[in-house]
Amino acid sequence: MDKNDGLAPETISAQALGQIDKATGGVTPAIHLSTTFVRDHDYQLLHPEHSYSRDENATYHAAEKVLTKLEGAADALLFSSGMAAAMAVIQSLKPGDHIVAPKVMYWGLRHWMTESCKHWGIQLDFFDSSDPDSLSKTVRAGKTKLIWMETPCNPTWDIIDIKEAAGIAKNIGARLAVDSTVATPVLTQPLKYGADIVVHSATKYLNGHCDVLAGVTLCAKKDDFWEKICEIRLHTGAVLGSLEAWLLQRSLRTLFLRVRQSSQSAMAIAEHFEGHPRIKSVLYPGLASHPGHDVAKRQMQGGFGGMLSLRVNGDAETALDIVKRCAVFTRATSLGGVESLIEHRYSIEGENSPIPKDLLRLSIGIEAVEDLIADLEQALA
Ligand SMILES: *Cc1c(COP(=O)(O)O)cnc(C)c1O
Repeated sequence: MDKNDGLAPETISAQALGQIDKATGGVTPAIHLSTTFVRDHDYQLLHPEHSYSRDENATYHAAEKVLTKLEGAADALLFSSGMAAAMAVIQSLKPGDHIVAPKVMYWGLRHWMTESCKHWGIQLDFFDSSDPDSLSKTVRAGKTKLIWMETPCNPTWDIIDIKEAAGIAKNIGARLAVDSTVATPVLTQPLKYGADIVVHSATKYLNGHCDVLAGVTLCAKKDDFWEKICEIRLHTGAVLGSLEAWLLQRSLRTLFLRVRQSSQSAMAIAEHFEGHPRIKSVLYPGLASHPGHDVAKRQMQGGFGGMLSLRVNGDAETALDIVKRCAVFTRATSLGGVESLIEHRYSIEGENSPIPKDLLRLSIGIEAVEDLIADLEQALA
């Protein structure tokens, strides 16, 4: 029996599955920087699993094993970024295949998915994540090979029912891939609801300190499609450096504390500002007023995440004026770090953006929530 069997995910995360440095007895695993590995006089690898680091490295495994366990997956692969992790899934499709993805989703990926699909002859259609019937109307039986989804969906935090999407995928012979960056395995395990693939930008909550760029792709089963994804990482070389992989396994040890604190503070901020005279609406799946609240309650456990958006009464100028006056929130893009960030998405995405000009996206960190509320109150005064 594996000594970790039966342990709670909090324990698995805090102890990184009890992985130690066997060579010295160090309580944390070593960093393996070597890119190549020795063969003996008979030309056999000293350790058959290690040959060259573009393929395998024990430091990647340390983080991959923890993530595999936390997601209840069959396997995990680290990538050099969330984009690389996601694109390995897209690249595993064939010309002529059809993909569907949400209209509102992580902007960088939507853009690059569109460009790449055009280039590779993959057909791509978008569904409306705010309309529960839209997905089933957008898929094409026999033709759609992949349903891509994100939940909560950036930056409106629309909720998509994973179980329902998995049912649709199964009916038409497609795979379901879930970008679970915002939910993290602390709040949702998509494979449990029938997803085939889970992707994270590990740059965000999994690492959580805005100091490592990383991605991870996980699978429900090691099939041909997974083989293809492994091949793509090997040959495109989209691997993570060992130092970054080590930092990621270190950060995963505090994942539960960080995500739970962020979720709790985000909930308090959402409740505080709902109905504020300068706020038109607060978009947060934890609020009963959010259209995805009931599904979120079912599919997310222990919180609704650390991301919320405020739509202010006014235009882009009003929103930017509020951002300008923030002193505790940091003005920066990205999300999932221990420090709270505020961002005007429309300014970043530009004219073709579907994001309302009055929307401010907040990534709630682990500071004292009173300080965050007071900062927003003075910025809105
Ligand atoms: C940031 C992000 C990505 C891209 O990840 P990188 O690590 O920046 O490449 C993909 N999906 C979501 C939801 C993200 O927030």
